[in-house]
Amino acid sequence: MEIPTYPPPDDPIPREIKCLDHGFVALVDWMGNDRTPAQCARTSFRNAQQERTDEQDAKLTDYLVRHKHTTPIEFCQVRFYMKMPIFVARQLVRHRTASINEVSYRYVQAAREFYVPEVARLQRKPETNKQGSSEALVENPALCTGVIRDAGNAAFDAYAELLREGLAPEIARIVLPCGTYTEWYWQNDLHNTLHMLGLRLDPHAQYEIRVFAQACLDLLRPIYPTIITAWGKARAA
Ligand SMILES: Cc1cc2nc3c(=O)[nH]c(=O)nc-3n(C[C@H](O)[C@H](O)[C@H](O)COP(=O)(O)OP(=O)(O)OC[C@H]3O[C@@H](n4cnc5c(N)ncnc54)[C@H](O)[C@@H]3O)c2cc1C
Repeated sequence: MEIPTYPPPDDPIPREIKCLDHGFVALVDWMGNDRTPAQCARTSFRNAQQERTDEQDAKLTDYLVRHKHTTPIEFCQVRFYMKMPIFVARQLVRHRTASINEVSYRYVQAAREFYVPEVARLQRKPETNKQGSSEALVENPALCTGVIRDAGNAAFDAYAELLREGLAPEIARIVLPCGTYTEWYWQNDLHNTLHMLGLRLDPHAQYEIRVFAQACLDLLRPIYPTIITAWGKARAA
């Protein structure tokens, strides 16, 4: 399935991109700009304070990215607020350098929001590969959609009943499916963010996490155009 990319926005800095049926990625804060890595890297020669042109900084940035001089890129920091199904969060949480603060269904009630894939995503199990999905759809996508929706609704009915019985929310939540939406702040330095995006934009990564990775990239591009272009070139090389 094709990953949606964000169209060139009227606002040169888009702040939020919708993902899947109930999710989104919002860029809520960042530190450092497109020239920060080049300026930091010049400390090596004690000449960080000298005036440089955009072109000189862009050339150095390209060099840093291409030769994996990664620490200057870490001087930029980004913070997203994301809402995604738990199974997507479960994959993203593996990126260990990120700082995360997540909503807790021990404290607040989960909204009845769970992921129901669109028909084009109801792809068959691949014949040759143990993970991923084939291009072909299952024979009866409508049946699969119905089963997923019914299962989600039944789980949320059970959750509501357990809460009505006075069960502690931290136990009641165990009946919720991994397609349930969760929310968090996700913060990381730009180098490790790009590392995560490289892994999660790869065609081997699951479609749903690629949607979120693409949204992160589309939000970062207007802020760090030179760095992202250099990273894209290095990735394609
Ligand atoms: C397509 C795909 C399929 C996957 N399938 C599975 C699977 O089936 N099962 C599974 O368990 N996982 C799976 N993963 C997760 C994968 O194994 C990694 O845990 C995840 O991609 C994070 O990668 P990372 O460690 O490079 O990145 P991060 O955790 O983001 O770390 C960034 C970098 O920091 C450094 N670093 C961070 N922590 C340490 C540390 N403790 N020691 C040394 N260096 C460190 C490393 O250089 C690392 O590359 C999959 C990932 C992908 C992309």
